[in-house]
Amino acid sequence: MRGAVMHAPGDVRVEERGEPRIVEPTDAILRMSATCICGSDLWPYRGVDALDGPTPMGHEYAGIVEEVGSEVSTIKPGQFVIGSFFASDNTCEICRAGYQSSCVHRVGIGTEGSQAERLRVPLADGTLVATPGVPADDLVPSLLAASDVLGTGWFGAVAAEAGPGKTVAVVGDGAVGLHGVLAAKQLGAERIIAMSRHASRQQLAREYGATDIVEERGDDGVAAIKELTNGLGAHSVIEAVGTQESMMQAIRATRPGGHVGFVGVAHGVELPGEELFFSHVHLHGGPAPVRRFLPELIDLIWDRRIDPGKVFDLHLPLEQAAAGYQAMDEREAIKVLLHP
Ligand SMILES: [Zn+2]
Repeated sequence: MRGAVMHAPGDVRVEERGEPRIVEPTDAILRMSATCICGSDLWPYRGVDALDGPTPMGHEYAGIVEEVGSEVSTIKPGQFVIGSFFASDNTCEICRAGYQSSCVHRVGIGTEGSQAERLRVPLADGTLVATPGVPADDLVPSLLAASDVLGTGWFGAVAAEAGPGKTVAVVGDGAVGLHGVLAAKQLGAERIIAMSRHASRQQLAREYGATDIVEERGDDGVAAIKELTNGLGAHSVIEAVGTQESMMQAIRATRPGGHVGFVGVAHGVELPGEELFFSHVHLHGGPAPVRRFLPELIDLIWDRRIDPGKVFDLHLPLEQAAAGYQAMDEREAIKVLLHP
């Protein structure tokens, strides 16, 4: 089968890869309806994360079940399914508490590489959620978004305790940040401040429910948030970047007693203990337990109450994955969908 492989920073090639096969009796094999490139795939692309030789890429997926192992009981061939970037048993104590991305048996999908025609998904019964039927083509991008960016933005909003009466600020205007805006709106937030300096992303943020836009960054961005909140800061701040600047911007833009939901993968972030001590903010985040939210997100998409697929502003054939990486690296595209 064909699949994307990163050979070195800036060097992604679509080439022949081995067909995935059932390895464990709890596995399923999917034929991908669509896959995509993640903002986090840009870390190795830019040389920030080291590569250990040629690496299959991709951890987001939605598609049709082709085959299941002998111990898979709820997932069946022919179903359209979505799963998260961590496979999980969904039965251990950590899963039952809603933290499936820290499942004691978790398996990273990234090592399988979902930017391909087919994918092996471990722990199929615990990981995959089937839609009510095979979706119309125009629903596929939104269902694919639920696999990571929507679920991650949603967790950011939940971790930041976005809800009625709250002012929510969102640091980061990538797909996760934009879905943080969408989630805050769905969760009933009163005011949603998107931090972005890109016109097309501001526009989508407004469509998703942003009431205010702040273009400044860093301490200027913090000052702008304070100005909009009577000098207090936001109740809830979603951090969707993962840098030192964005994390401190999020903490400093939160009022005492408020909550930061941090979902940008941290790169070189070091928190100053004394400032944290006196900030009085709650910090919660990490790799989103997308599986917790999938049934609810699938319902919202199936009923066409949300349209998270709009973040895919560039659709390409899988064969052109390299062009997709380049477009995201240069910020010409918010998020790239790949058609196998
Ligand atoms: Zn578990």
